[in-house]
Amino acid sequence: MSFIYQPRSNAELEQIAEIILGRYARRRSGHFVDIEAIIEDAEITPIPRRGGLHKFVNGYAATNPKYIVISESFASYPERYRSILAEEFCHIVLEYEIFKTGILPIDAQPHNLTFDQHQQIEHDAQYLARAVLIPKDSLIPLWREHFENAPAGVRHAEDCRLIHCAESLESFFVVWPLTIAYRARDVDLITDGQCRSYFSDRLAI
Ligand SMILES: [Zn+2]
Repeated sequence: MSFIYQPRSNAELEQIAEIILGRYARRRSGHFVDIEAIIEDAEITPIPRRGGLHKFVNGYAATNPKYIVISESFASYPERYRSILAEEFCHIVLEYEIFKTGILPIDAQPHNLTFDQHQQIEHDAQYLARAVLIPKDSLIPLWREHFENAPAGVRHAEDCRLIHCAESLESFFVVWPLTIAYRARDVDLITDGQCRSYFSDRLAI
């Protein structure tokens, strides 16, 4: 079955994130978004898989969109596990537009994506996953507060101060500092250049 994926703008992805966060508001406690519970509410089931799957892919939406297959080896690293689950969930959300209804249509069929469509949806799913796991209304005040109150030891240099912010916020969102840095870039707390030279070129994923 052919399927055309219509790429979304960042503004549209932010709106979709708002809809998801609003619909599953009870799954958010403080700054923490319980993505596993949201996935359960959406009637999608993660299936842990053993073996060397993670050498090839982190996770993937199975042929049947009611399932997310994820390598069992990530389950002991909540920061990693949550990001992968969120991204796979967002693939399904975007492809099946379940932000409109909250649940997958009963007759949802697998989509065949061309390489280009896959690239587009990949970018959008990653963006949306960050927007859901690290809500803007939590991140912006927390980031500013940690920037302002950075300890003397890290104030001397911009890179140390920004890395301090990303690392301090890990425990609020339970995602890796690099993901927080990308999200800080998405919402203009840091520039593209700062994100590249202080984070993506330095921190291992
Ligand atoms: Zn993906």
